[in-house]
Amino acid sequence: MAGEPQADCLFCKIVAKEVPATVVRETATTLAFRDINPQAPTHVLVIPKSHHPDAGSLAAAEPEAAADVLREAGLVAVDEKIADTGYRIVFNTGSGAGQTVFHAHAHVLGGRGLDWPPG
Ligand code: 5GP
Repeated sequence: MAGEPQADCLFCKIVAKEVPATVVRETATTLAFRDINPQAPTHVLVIPKSHHPDAGSLAAAEPEAAADVLREAGLVAVDEKIADTGYRIVFNTGSGAGQTVFHAHAHVLGGRGLDWPPG
């Protein structure tokens, strides 16, 4: 069923505390933790606790949870003191765009200059 934990999903295991992560924020519906392979001085992942394979399917099934993820992404930026200098929120969607974990997640990146367009 949409939103239910998936046994083979890494991020569901992080939500369930079966896999450790450096958690920086948590709400009833979201978890934010540091990326294991940071691409910038600040690189935090914000995920819904419910399982949806990507951001679009999350927004379609649970728009309030999608909004919660975005709100938390902005609060991570404030906590990490990158809100004033500028930061990027990225949802890689599909393997062709670099998505490797198929549980919706926002990357919050900042603390260095960020080029545009992205690679
Ligand atoms: P994607 O490539 O799907 O957009 O992003 C997945 C992200 O998850 C990658 O940036 C990757 O470094 C991160 N990641 C993969 N495995 C783990 C893990 O076990 N712990 C944490 N904290 N991040 C992970």
